[in-house]
Amino acid sequence: MTKKTNNGVDKTLRRLSLDRETPKSAFILLLLLYGIATFLTISSSNTQAEITLFGETMRFSALTGVFSMLGSTCIIVLVMLFRKVGYFTAMFLLIVQLPGLIINIVVRHSVKHLPGLFTSFMIIIAITIIFLSNRKILAYQKSIRDQAVTDSLTGLPNRFACTELMQDLLRRNSDFVVVSADLNDFKSINDTMGHSAGDAVLIEVARRWRELANNTTTETTEFVARNSADEFILIISDYDSLDDVEKTIEAYKAELEKKMTIDDCDYYMTACYGYAVCPDDSTVIDNIFTFADAAMHEVKDKEIGHGISILRYTSEILNAEKTIAIERKIRNALEQDKIFYHLQPQYDIDHKLRGFEALARLRDDDGSYISPVDFIPVAEKTGLVDRIDMKVYEMAVDFIAKVIAETGRHITISVNVSVRHLMKNNFIEEIRRVLEERNVSADHIEIEITESIMIDSAEKALERIEQLKAMGMKVAIDDFGTGYSSLSYLNSFPSDLLKIDKSFIDKMNLSDSSRQYVAMIISIGHILDLKVISEGVESADQVDVLKDIGCDYIQGYVWGKPMPPEEAGKLVAESA
Ligand code: C2E
Ligand code: MG
Ligand code: MG
Repeated sequence: MTKKTNNGVDKTLRRLSLDRETPKSAFILLLLLYGIATFLTISSSNTQAEITLFGETMRFSALTGVFSMLGSTCIIVLVMLFRKVGYFTAMFLLIVQLPGLIINIVVRHSVKHLPGLFTSFMIIIAITIIFLSNRKILAYQKSIRDQAVTDSLTGLPNRFACTELMQDLLRRNSDFVVVSADLNDFKSINDTMGHSAGDAVLIEVARRWRELANNTTTETTEFVARNSADEFILIISDYDSLDDVEKTIEAYKAELEKKMTIDDCDYYMTACYGYAVCPDDSTVIDNIFTFADAAMHEVKDKEIGHGISILRYTSEILNAEKTIAIERKIRNALEQDKIFYHLQPQYDIDHKLRGFEALARLRDDDGSYISPVDFIPVAEKTGLVDRIDMKVYEMAVDFIAKVIAETGRHITISVNVSVRHLMKNNFIEEIRRVLEERNVSADHIEIEITESIMIDSAEKALERIEQLKAMGMKVAIDDFGTGYSSLSYLNSFPSDLLKIDKSFIDKMNLSDSSRQYVAMIISIGHILDLKVISEGVESADQVDVLKDIGCDYIQGYVWGKPMPPEEAGKLVAESA
């Protein structure tokens, strides 16, 4: 059975800081060097022998000063590296020499020992000064370190201290579990009872958990820290199985849930606990924190009504977490009207502007973009995609109306429509209403639908597409080649344009067969009386090949990235 090795939070912190100290082997080496230097000092001063150095003959006694300096240096280094122990060892070594030196000078009147006595006194003074000033520096260093690893409110270690402990456990190849614990309803205590009551609750939680970590009630070794606000971290090590871990968490839970009386008010605190295991879940410290947090948040979401309060991390949790976070961002953006769009130009093969594809854009809280590749699937799953599609469609129609008013040009705007949106009952009416309100004719619009629709919902989709065509719109089959549509579906589908997926264009110039494959898609498109556009064209070489094999249109970074509508407007004006 694994033994509980260290049951003190403070002890662990001390050990972590001491572990950085100079190794003991250096202490022994310095003593050895000092012994040799002292021996050589004494023997060189008492001999008349001569030695030859670099071809020159000299007295061995001429080196006495060098050996003496070497001894003194060892003593000083000893005090600097090993502080208290070093200082007392050095003092002992120096003081034991004094009686011998004094007797030689006073009783035997041997003046040649005078420099030795003088040097010893000077070194004693020097190392005492070093020792005393070192103590001040160390006390200062300690207070800085204490601040760096301690949470000022509760006195518990903080997240940084946890990171240090985790690094240490990883170095020792010890398994450990990180638990993220978040108090429930803590905010309401702050809001209703005031911040000082909230602080008192946190201090009491910290006191209870610290006591539990410091005593031997549990079978495992724990280290408790405060992460932020009402979030605590528990690092559990020295366990035999995860059953032991869960028992330990249960013990912390039970301790927390005991009645808490603060300023004559009773509080019954509860928390949600999520944990991740190192090395099973990850050996990367940041990931372990993230995973434990994700598990804790999963408990928070499920807790209401489900009674689960402790959960281990699984990869599904993080995906669900991510989805929830993205869903929240989409909802906020829709509510605050923050979904916007970019337009990516499409050209014919001679580089004449055909129009643009409208692409939805969403910004994260920090201003960075969230890719549609991430948010569109979430929007599809959560039923929000029709609102995004509609928003982008409305903005795109506004853009066309503006272009017509300003330039009189006829351009085509492609908008992406998800299957879900297309199948909505009032889809056609909504599409038509937007056009009528802006007085834009339908032949400016191309609807992009992925080829999967041909298989999933062929009949109803066909009906919808025929209605769109009847209005005068064009229809494009997006990402062609990535699905499983058969030629017969394609033949019966009233589309106007095939969009060859970027993945085929990427490979096109790498082998003959890939090039022939693209050429074949283009031929099929032409046989079926469709135009063909290549997506994701990034190089001039690709453009040359596509021209050779008869592709009609080009969309890709080579001729234009997605851009804000203002820039797209300028592009239309310039290309007139
Ligand atoms: P898509 O409809 O196939 O759009 C083309 C994607 O390829 C766009 O990515 C575009 O920025 C990117 N692209 C174009 N040329 C190049 C190139 O040369 N190199 C590279 N690396 N990429 C290129 P984006 O904007 O990230 O959109 C991704 C997908 O998200 C779209 O693929 C579409 O399926 C979906 N999407 C975007 N906006 C909407 C929308 O409003 N509604 C719906 N339902 N889906 C949308
Ligand atoms: Mg598209
Ligand atoms: Mg595409």
